[in-house]
Amino acid sequence: MAMGDMGSRGAAGAGSQGPKREQALEQRQEPGTGEPEDALPRDALGRAWEELVATARRTVADGLVVGTSGNVSVRVGGTVLVTPSGVPYERLTAQDAVAVDLDGNQVLGDLAPTSELPMHLAIYRSTDARAVVHTHAVHATAVSTLVPELPLIHYMAAALGGPVRVARYALYGTDELAENMLRALADRTGCLLQNHGTITYGATLDQAYDRTAQLEWMCRVWLTASALPDRTPTLLSRGQLREVEEKLRGYGQPRS
Ligand SMILES: [Zn+2]
Repeated sequence: MAMGDMGSRGAAGAGSQGPKREQALEQRQEPGTGEPEDALPRDALGRAWEELVATARRTVADGLVVGTSGNVSVRVGGTVLVTPSGVPYERLTAQDAVAVDLDGNQVLGDLAPTSELPMHLAIYRSTDARAVVHTHAVHATAVSTLVPELPLIHYMAAALGGPVRVARYALYGTDELAENMLRALADRTGCLLQNHGTITYGATLDQAYDRTAQLEWMCRVWLTASALPDRTPTLLSRGQLREVEEKLRGYGQPRS
C-alpha cells in the first residue's frame, strides 16, 4: 500500500504548507474579465473535477480501491487535475481541487497531489491519454505477483491493446516505477504493477475506469480458472486476439 497515499486530511496540510496558489474553483470566476489566450475555461476545470471525484468514488464503491490507496487524474489542455494525497474520496469537495502542469508544478489547490503523480504525468507526456486510473484491485494485484504477463484468458485483452504486461516492481511514487510502467504500457492502454496494482488510461474518465474494471475482471477469471486442481485453463492465441482487435475496430465483418 502506498504509504504516501495514507494519512489524515489534517496531515495533508490543508492551508498550512506553501503559498496559497489559487482560490478554490467556485471562487475563481471573475465575470467580464478577459482571460489570457491559454487560460482554461473555469467551468471546464470545475466539470472535470466533478467527474474525477465521481470516478474516484466509483473505484471505492466497486471494490477496486480500499480507503485512499488509489488515485485518478484527468487532463484538460495542459492542466492535469489529480486526487490529493490522503483525503477520503467521499470528503472531496470543489474546494479540494488539485491540479498540476505537465512538469508537475502545482497550479491549483493547497492539498498535496497524489504521491503517484510521476506515473500519471509519464502517461500524459507520452500518450494521448486524457484520463488515468490507478488502483490496488485485489485480483489484479494478486496476478501481478505471479506472472510477467496476464495469460490470454479472455478476448477483452484486446480492449487494452493486447496481452497485459506486468511492470517490474519499484518503490511507489518514484520515477523508476513510472519508467517501468511506461515500458509495460508500450502499445497498451493498461498494465499491472508488480506487487502493487493496476494503471489504465483512456480518452475519458469513463473509458479509463472501464479498462481498469475489465482488467480486474480478467485477472479474476484467470485466477478462478487456474485455481482448480489438475485443470489448466485454455488460452487464446495471438492470432485469435488479433481477430478480435480487427473486429473491435470495425474491420473484418460485413456491416449492416
Ligand atoms: Zn498505488
